[in-house]
Amino acid sequence: MSATLNEKNPYDVALENFEMAADALELDTNIREMIRNPERILTVGLPVRLDDGRIRRFEGFRVQHNTSRGPAKGGIRYHPGVTLDEVKALASWMTWKCAVVNIPFGGGKGGVTCNPKEMSLAEIERLTRRYTSAILPLIGPSQDIPAPDVYTNPQIMAWIMDTYSMTKGYPIPGVVTGKPISLGGSLGRNEATGHGVFNTIESACAHLRMQMKGAKVAVQGFGNAGSVAAHLLDSHQAYVIAVSDSRGCIYNKDGLDIPKLMVYKEQTGAVSGFPASEPISPEQLLSLACDILIPAALENAIHGENAGTVKAKIIAEAANGPLTPEADRILENKGAFIIPDILCNAGGVTVSYFEWVQDEQHLFWEAQDVYNRLERVMKTSFNEVVNIHVERKVSMRTAANMLGVSRVAEATKLRGLYP
Ligand code: NAD
Repeated sequence: MSATLNEKNPYDVALENFEMAADALELDTNIREMIRNPERILTVGLPVRLDDGRIRRFEGFRVQHNTSRGPAKGGIRYHPGVTLDEVKALASWMTWKCAVVNIPFGGGKGGVTCNPKEMSLAEIERLTRRYTSAILPLIGPSQDIPAPDVYTNPQIMAWIMDTYSMTKGYPIPGVVTGKPISLGGSLGRNEATGHGVFNTIESACAHLRMQMKGAKVAVQGFGNAGSVAAHLLDSHQAYVIAVSDSRGCIYNKDGLDIPKLMVYKEQTGAVSGFPASEPISPEQLLSLACDILIPAALENAIHGENAGTVKAKIIAEAANGPLTPEADRILENKGAFIIPDILCNAGGVTVSYFEWVQDEQHLFWEAQDVYNRLERVMKTSFNEVVNIHVERKVSMRTAANMLGVSRVAEATKLRGLYP
């Protein structure tokens, strides 16, 4: 979605949202100057041998946006649409997100412009190891800790951990999160983002005095975040009536069988063709008469030209940056309740933090322990954001940004500036 006609440069969107929050906070111009832009940007060229013997050069990035509150934290994306500005935007959202959920990390992000769907597993491994070597000066358990993002997964995190550890001579699991359990991953990490999305939707329903039971849900992007959120909503008696992936959208007015759909997607690689469903267009999915819409794919999915058709009461941003500022304004005016990305999808980084803590302590927690702690963090953060939204009469997005920016600003001020 990084290449839609309605695209706004995601970094411009990030800066626009930052300025809105900074204005509402009446933030000092010197502090703004210190926290607005990234601290470090690394662009790397990655020559990789393809299976047919040719060498292809890929381009990769790692951005550390802000480390006032702790080491940089943020995922790595493999996607043909990855650009430096996208990575900068995602890194800045990580800064505010870690502060919103009050975990001791700053914001970072990485990406490689590539199409993993057209690459073999061996090519992806060689690319990952080369990328890890290239960003070695930046990463480390006390410096900058990557994690999965779009089209990266626990296996890729395992290769990153291995490549980094080889340079030290001993295993260092805390360099990356979202690892397989057998390499120091945390129980619940894979499902964490979807769980957090679900926790915030539960809180939103309570805040709006709306029943989750019987609510109709549409999910754009039935991947890690979207499918887990859909599954939890389904198991709490909501009806997930439509879902999509990059290849198609499906609909059933009585609700799709989500557990079976998860197996079907796993087996076939797509949602299209699922029994007891009919195909619909991406535009139809967004404009369905439903209570909850979960954009869980990529940026700019809902923009000035399609926002007017959205009918959902709650929009839960599982994806990062799925609404353009214009879409925000249109939906706010329509009275939709938006759970902004830096709150809604913060479950992933929260359990990444739990994973890092467990790795550093060599002491591992039970899954229920992880989910209980996660729920506490998500619900506390939701309440803090809603309080600002109500008291200051600002949008939920501005409220979340105000909470994140104020915490980063305070840390920056307290640390001061080297003369
Ligand atoms: P994923 O790769 O598991 O899933 C992405 C899904 O979106 C796939 O099913 C893909 O087919 C689908 N998709 C891609 N383009 C689409 C399109 N045009 N229309 C409909 N569907 C499309 O990725 P993910 O980890 O679930 O990430 C999804 C979003 O959530 C991203 O914005 C990511 O930054 C955000 N996010 C993920 C995590 C996490 O821990 N996984 C944490 C925070 C935020």
